[in-house]
Amino acid sequence: MSLRFDDIELIRSRRKTIGLEVRSDGSVIVRAPLRFPERDIRRFVEDHTEWIEKHLEKAKRMEKETAPDDRLTMEEIRALAERALKVIPERVEYYAPKVGVHYSRITIRNQKSRWGSCSAKGNLNFNCLLMLTPPEVIDSVVVHELCHLKEMNHSKHFYEEVLRVYPEYRKWEKWLKEHGRHLMRRMTG
Ligand SMILES: [Zn+2]
Repeated sequence: MSLRFDDIELIRSRRKTIGLEVRSDGSVIVRAPLRFPERDIRRFVEDHTEWIEKHLEKAKRMEKETAPDDRLTMEEIRALAERALKVIPERVEYYAPKVGVHYSRITIRNQKSRWGSCSAKGNLNFNCLLMLTPPEVIDSVVVHELCHLKEMNHSKHFYEEVLRVYPEYRKWEKWLKEHGRHLMRRMTG
């Protein structure tokens, strides 16, 4: 596996020490004091790569053992991907001018960790499992990724832009937080 620093969630707070946590859903969190230099955090993470990987393996094993019984079949996933290829590019085309960005390629993926992502080159990726969510969730993820083409972070400014284009964003983000994990666990493989 390859662990990228960008995949790790950094939470700064008024604590005195730096600490690591691997959650059961496979997310990695590093907690650090407010003014702890980022290069020291990176070094700390690098020094603990082995520890992180061990715990990620364990999380994965646990997940397999408690797999839901409504796993999607390969045919079902293929059907979702086909539908996504029709639906999502339309939504992207609709929202891109509202956000005021140009995009390059749209790819539909079968993923267990992400709903969408984008690259600096303007390529957009979306999870085919979005087809199992309400249309409003699809739109909220599309707007989120399109806004990243303007602002490659999750700053206050980024969310202001998201909310300008999609005022109901918070409601559907919450929906995805509540139901998303279960949907991801239906993904086979
Ligand atoms: Zn984002």
